[in-house]
Amino acid sequence: MDLYQQLLASLSPELWIIVIAVLLGLTPAIIAYKKGRSPVLWWLFGTLLFVVALPAILIIDPKNVKKCPECAELVKEEAVKCRFCGHAFKGRPGEERRKDWTL
Ligand SMILES: [Zn+2]
Repeated sequence: MDLYQQLLASLSPELWIIVIAVLLGLTPAIIAYKKGRSPVLWWLFGTLLFVVALPAILIIDPKNVKKCPECAELVKEEAVKCRFCGHAFKGRPGEERRKDWTL
């Protein structure tokens, strides 16, 4: 048994559950960040209630964001310039607003 295996074996099952929950919680947190929502809150939500948080963040609409036509990244609706590629948005802020279908 090498050192790595000894370390894995020394962790209690309870600790493993916590480690796995924290890692699982990162998935909705990353999705939330990309959708302009709080990654910290969604990480907490995902850690505590992963089975609820993941489908919730997948169906939830991005908050106050629009998709850049140049690089397809999501940027804030008020932005006049894309923070990823520098694309300048034409028209009034909010004109390219996505269809709002959330509750
Ligand atoms: Zn862009």
